[in-house]
Amino acid sequence: MDLGLNGKIALVTGASKGIGLAAAQALAAEGARVALVARSGDALDEAVRGIGSAGGEALAVVGDVSRADEVERVVAEVRRRLGDPQVLVANAGGPRAGTPSGLDEQAWADAVQLTLMSTVRLVQATLPAMRRGRWGRIVTITSLSVREPLLNLTLSNALRAGVTGYIKTLSQEVAAEGITANNVAPGYTATARLAELFADAAAERALVETIPAKRLGTPEEIAAAVAFLASEPAAYVTGQTLLVDGGIVKSLM
Ligand code: NAD
Repeated sequence: MDLGLNGKIALVTGASKGIGLAAAQALAAEGARVALVARSGDALDEAVRGIGSAGGEALAVVGDVSRADEVERVVAEVRRRLGDPQVLVANAGGPRAGTPSGLDEQAWADAVQLTLMSTVRLVQATLPAMRRGRWGRIVTITSLSVREPLLNLTLSNALRAGVTGYIKTLSQEVAAEGITANNVAPGYTATARLAELFADAAAERALVETIPAKRLGTPEEIAAAVAFLASEPAAYVTGQTLLVDGGIVKSLM
């Protein structure tokens, strides 16, 4: 299937490793010109070099998406060096773990900036040009926690629900303008983030046993869903959350 992404300009945040990096690689492999954003230069430069040596076009932009001024600067730089993003993949590291009673005011404030407001601001910065071009694809990376809240991941549970509500509302506003907005909700995926949450091999084995597919997902499997939602053939899919979870979520919706 031709995804129709050749020559499209894409902005992927949280892209120096894990799911964000795999999403950037997948879009570049489809011929998109991809700007990769993360906070530190070295890993990011390596990611961009990797895409280049695979024959893709990529640009590194250092920035922290949890800060309003940084989002504005990053998008302005992408616009100047590559052009207006037509595809936005809004992603960042997950918020810290913690129980409902174990999180202070600062933890909440930080997580709101990182998980919810980064998405809102990235959309605000890129949407006007998508509207002018009457074409756009917005994809956020959320989590299986939007369907089944996870014990000890209170901030993720609460704020990704907020992202999901925001994206659904946005999808309705822009549906007639050739712009879609969707979420990809990963299940347990083999990245640095997961390694952080499950410290030892026994805990990982116990977790894998609970997954119907009997294995972790790969970043590339999450990225394939991102590439589809960013594609031309996905033009009529909007306001959705696509779970990529090896079957672990048991609910119907
Ligand atoms: P990861 O930690 O491997 O990678 C996160 C990326 O985001 C890195 O490139 C990091 O440098 C970047 N980043 C972090 N904070 C940033 C900031 N403020 N500004 C810019 N870049 C920033 O994470 P991952 O496993 O690839 O997960 C990506 C997202 O998916 C996270 O939000 C995570 O919570 C969520 N998720 C992951 C899993 C999983 O099993 N890995 C499951 C469900 C949801």
